[in-house]
Amino acid sequence: MQPTQPRLHLGNIEGALRNWVRLQDEFEIFCFIADWHALTSMAHEPHLIKHNTREITKDYIAGGIDLKRSIIFAQSDVKEHAELHLLFSMVTPLGWLERVPTYKEKKEAMGSEERESYGFLGYPVLQAADILMYKPHGVPVGKDQAPHLELSREIARRFNNLYGEVFPEFENVIGDIPLLLGTDGRKMSKSYDNAIYLSDTEDETAAKINSAFTTPTKIKKTDPGIPETCAVCNLLRVYSPNWETQWEEDRQGIRGCMQNKRELIECVNENLRPMRERRAHISDADVEDALKKGAERAREVAAATMVDVRAAMGMS
Ligand code: ADP
Repeated sequence: MQPTQPRLHLGNIEGALRNWVRLQDEFEIFCFIADWHALTSMAHEPHLIKHNTREITKDYIAGGIDLKRSIIFAQSDVKEHAELHLLFSMVTPLGWLERVPTYKEKKEAMGSEERESYGFLGYPVLQAADILMYKPHGVPVGKDQAPHLELSREIARRFNNLYGEVFPEFENVIGDIPLLLGTDGRKMSKSYDNAIYLSDTEDETAAKINSAFTTPTKIKKTDPGIPETCAVCNLLRVYSPNWETQWEEDRQGIRGCMQNKRELIECVNENLRPMRERRAHISDADVEDALKKGAERAREVAAATMVDVRAAMGMS
């Protein structure tokens, strides 16, 4: 996750973090915070990134990452990522990067003052280095990240073809959670000011849900709803065990948007309560300690991979 904000939202938690927590029962997992990546949109305010990284580490721990079994580290603490990024950038055709769907989307959304940088175009190459450095068995992400993983795979194949088998194939580990919608009905994202955060209070969560987008043509309770495009119904699907009945009643005009919102507020707050309580007890010293130990373990693996990479290229 990129530390462009000091907090994770429900989409990050359900689309990614929950999956990581589940996977740590079976695998050694490497959870990282992409602080160099955050510079693609925050080059003018790098001083905020360190603070954000620490706050997100708290969210990871509160969300259930168990530091006895798993590691959390910051990308910039493992300089090998920069070396591998450079080497990959020499074997990645420019056309591959220009075709990445999120590149086109984000480029169109950019303001005129926010000029596109070389690093912005190349960030999937850095992401490939982040992933392949650990020769992973699987990479757990939300559905929106699938094109980036495909590009990482192509870069690995190209590298292996040129220099010999260094990087094994990996799997996409994508949970069956739908893309979460934000309060305005678009994808929930920290870039859109439409997100509900783990660090929000229960009252803030309620206020956001109360103002959320529903079916625009459902004005009275008896008007039929379209749950597929309603942000409140989208979240009920993830958080409410009764979502199927709630959706049907919404569709048939048996229930109104206010009832949906009331029930969603209860489910979300109840679901987040244990994490929010845990978060309140994590100290800055706990975070420093976690990041330091995480970086030590990550550097061990990264150093070994770079020995293989340099040997394969005849550049030891
Ligand atoms: P954002 O879009 O808020 O900037 P990131 O791009 O940093 O989020 O994504 C971090 C992780 O969270 C990724 O694995 C991504 O797939 C997942 N994710 C982000 N937004 C959502 C969402 N709305 N629904 C499900 N998963 C999401």
